[in-house]
Amino acid sequence: MGRRKLIAGNWKMNGLRADGTALAGALAADSGAGSDVDVLVCPPATLLAPVADALAGSRVALGGQDCHAKASGAHTGDVSAAMLADAGCAYVILGHSERRQDHGETDAGVRAKAAAARAAGLVAIVCVGETEAERMAGRHLEVVAAQIAGSVADDATAADTVVAYEPVWAIGTGRTATSDDIAAMHAHIRALLARRLASGGDIRILYGGSVKPGNAAEIMAVADVDGALVGGASLKAEDFRAIVRSCG
Ligand code: PEP
Repeated sequence: MGRRKLIAGNWKMNGLRADGTALAGALAADSGAGSDVDVLVCPPATLLAPVADALAGSRVALGGQDCHAKASGAHTGDVSAAMLADAGCAYVILGHSERRQDHGETDAGVRAKAAAARAAGLVAIVCVGETEAERMAGRHLEVVAAQIAGSVADDATAADTVVAYEPVWAIGTGRTATSDDIAAMHAHIRALLARRLASGGDIRILYGGSVKPGNAAEIMAVADVDGALVGGASLKAEDFRAIVRSCG
């Protein structure tokens, strides 16, 4: 069986109860998905419960934006993977570049969080991607290889792990990688996963970085692109639906 596409919306630190539930309700009514596309929204932690209610009975899944590596305890301000699962989440985004930058997250830390997520029954969406300086220096392939080696566990499977390739310079900037650059990086990631993991050929690889209705179809048609992680455009129901529809 082929890999099902996944379109994931990362709402980041956006949304209060009224607009978050309105957006979730609009997507629950019509996510734009055909039968072979999975749709996911990842609201901020404060909105998990009301968004779970708004999505109830729909095909749209719920995810968190981060979790702690420990199951419980003295970690003020943090949320555990079990808490996300308890709130109705099926997925969690881990190692997003904003967390790597703002919170000093490391590959080893992301790997530990992914282990906790998988143990709690969540699918871990592990984010990787090079900075502009690393790409300009021609180091993007080696940087992403190191992130994959450090962040993705040796026993990761297609059922519990998704990889998101997000060039840092394309996130929230309106700039996207070219189709050729995306194809080269996704082929590189596919080869790394397939070489190391039994189900590496089946793990979904998402592209993220200024995906919009106008560029989504071209990006979704690139080999080894199994969906998208969408930031800004996931905050508008019509734009997010159009990206979901671009999967065909
Ligand atoms: C992201 O935050 O994961 C992202 C890809 O953001 P944007 O779509 O806004 O570039």
